[in-house]
Amino acid sequence: MIVMKFGGSSVADAERIVAAGRIVQGRMSRRPVVIVSALAGVTDLLTDAVGAARRGERDSLERLLAELERKHRWALTGAVEEAGRRHRLSLEIDRLFEDLRQRLRSIRVLREATPRAADAVLAAGEDLSARIVVAALRDLGVPARWIDPREVLLTDRRFGEAEPQADAVRERAHEKLLPLVEAGEVPLLGGFVGASAEGDTTTLGRGGSDTSAAVLGSALEAEEIEIWTDVDGLMSADPRLVPAARTLPRVSFAEAAELAFYGARVLHPDSIAPAVQRRIPVRVLNSLRPEGEGSLIVEDGAGG
Ligand code: ADP
Ligand code: ASP
Ligand code: MG
Repeated sequence: MIVMKFGGSSVADAERIVAAGRIVQGRMSRRPVVIVSALAGVTDLLTDAVGAARRGERDSLERLLAELERKHRWALTGAVEEAGRRHRLSLEIDRLFEDLRQRLRSIRVLREATPRAADAVLAAGEDLSARIVVAALRDLGVPARWIDPREVLLTDRRFGEAEPQADAVRERAHEKLLPLVEAGEVPLLGGFVGASAEGDTTTLGRGGSDTSAAVLGSALEAEEIEIWTDVDGLMSADPRLVPAARTLPRVSFAEAAELAFYGARVLHPDSIAPAVQRRIPVRVLNSLRPEGEGSLIVEDGAGG
């Protein structure tokens, strides 16, 4: 079994969602569990919406909600063709937006966003993307099934930076995900989101979908964890700033930590530490060029 995580850039719009779906389709024989981030830019928009609500800025809040809604409607229209499925998904998205509006309205009325209330808003990004990607996968004939991450990723109550509880996650992952994988289905969860033992929604901190992938990969003792992004792997420098940057085929955990220290946001090594410690290989791959080898991150990096 493998864990495949698609970052926001890999599910940025309908075209990218379908491309990600084809990548999953091509790996069915490896029994994938899939984790998705929110569509690119969505967590930022939600963060802005919490701010606007807290300041009581009704107009800018409405603008942000309209932008969020437009993005998701556009993605769903382009990524899901089968009429019945598209209709059901559209109703589900209505429901999620209604819930999101309610939560933001109460923040606006109270002029206060507790960390707990903010997390419930931020989680909407992954709740939305996960529903859309599941439907897109089913359109491609992949038997994907949405699993609420709140039922699996149990965390402490440090809202905004919650810590997954490895033992509880392992138990839940075995109970909720393994039977599906064994039945040939593809469990799909939004990353970044979890829940406290009391059932309150928590988030794992920015970039937290990588953590979700690593924690689930460790819990399930996956053969490999694949982090799908928009560049060819971990590179010697940020390719946006240094065009000559080259892909590092094999990177030790220490080297990855050093790259992160110098700003490589592609992967924060802390987030994959549990997987590396268990010697589960983590590979960073490019969803725009899926045939590439990407970068393999290993505990000692010997040979690289
Ligand atoms: P995702 O949406 O998949 O989570 P991110 O935007 O978080 O992707 O991270 C990918 C980006 O990280 C790349 O587009 C790249 O510009 C940037 N980056 C910075 N430093 C590095 C590096 N050393 N190697 C690879 N990518 C890097
Ligand atoms: N959507 C969250 C973020 O933008 C989590 C992630 O993408 O890893 O930080
Ligand atoms: Mg990221």
